[in-house]
Amino acid sequence: MTLERLTREIKERARALGFHGVGITDVRPLEEAEARYHHWLREGLAADLQYMQTSAGQRAHPARVWPEARAVLVLVVNYYSGEFDALPRGHGRIARYAWGRDYHDVIPARLRQLVAEIEQLLRRPVRARCFTDAVPLLERALARRAGLGRIGWNACLITEAFGSWVFLSEILLDVELAPDPPETRACVSTFDCHRSCPTGALRPDGLVDARLCISYHTIENRGVIPRALRSKLGDWLFGCDVCQEVCPHNARVPITDWPEFHLEAGVGKTLALADVLAIASDEAFRQRFRGTALRRAKRRGLLRNAAIVAANTGYEEAIPQLRRLAREDPDEIIRGHALWALGVLDPAGSRAILERARRDVHPFVREEAEWALEASAGGEPSEGSANMKPSGAIAV
Ligand code: SF4
Repeated sequence: MTLERLTREIKERARALGFHGVGITDVRPLEEAEARYHHWLREGLAADLQYMQTSAGQRAHPARVWPEARAVLVLVVNYYSGEFDALPRGHGRIARYAWGRDYHDVIPARLRQLVAEIEQLLRRPVRARCFTDAVPLLERALARRAGLGRIGWNACLITEAFGSWVFLSEILLDVELAPDPPETRACVSTFDCHRSCPTGALRPDGLVDARLCISYHTIENRGVIPRALRSKLGDWLFGCDVCQEVCPHNARVPITDWPEFHLEAGVGKTLALADVLAIASDEAFRQRFRGTALRRAKRRGLLRNAAIVAANTGYEEAIPQLRRLAREDPDEIIRGHALWALGVLDPAGSRAILERARRDVHPFVREEAEWALEASAGGEPSEGSANMKPSGAIAV
């Protein structure tokens, strides 16, 4: 079988398996993307994403990830599942990618199936490495070189048919294939994403400052969310879609035909804050969010986010739950953010709890109590050290 025919047939099999796009590239280093990536790290824009730092030497080099690789298949799955409705009172929003089942659990089986079909085509075993997201490679740069889309000013990969509402996955294969021509077109440059970002996380050079990004803080940051950013989270409980919602490339994207990513398959568009704030243990959290992307935030992160969203949306019905968390929760991150929310929603009524929290064993909690007490005294609270970082989060 010729290289071209094999490549064509593999692409047909990938599409038959439900992948919405498939592109092929070789294993040469991604030099330009590597330079930008190291600049991003040097500037401190990666916040405390340790895994980005530790794999920095590999990310632009498929051959360092797996020396036997001869070709990289990059696969696209559309996950778009619709628009938000008006937010019900007492709810927080979930980013679209997390409405259905966790893609890390869904996509790998079809990657393995594709490898099996490649073996059928070749009538011999092949060696392959399959990755869904957790790949120490510059995925979007690989996808661009495989002809699958352009890089937007919001740093997302933007495909022709599905905009940026896509999951990427990769198969490194020990078989040579015919590479696709790279995408050379640029983003249409309306800069709607830059104007709309609530925190100014998108820089003029097209890099994302993770230290300011709501997605980073609500999903990856396991510690303190800087006080100056909390109000900017708005009603985002997990993730943030703002810079994708306004993107003109994302207009008229069809609903995905992968039922696993429909909102009925997972947590859906929003969660009730009262339900989140009532999750009493890590085990209860794991049970509740098993099979969904929300697992990543862990109980600590999601309850912290829920406290902030309750304050931002004026959800006073949460005050009794926030008082209980501020008083009793064993996790200092949850206690501290609950105190902050009480300082916004009910500083006078919660004064006794705030006073008691001044003697908390943890300095972060004591600082939040002082801040909230300043609010209860009717002063204009300063941002203090905004904030101390008991869990290694980077203050902005
Ligand atoms: S995800 Fe949200 S906070 Fe992050 S860059 Fe996009 S709009 Fe800004």
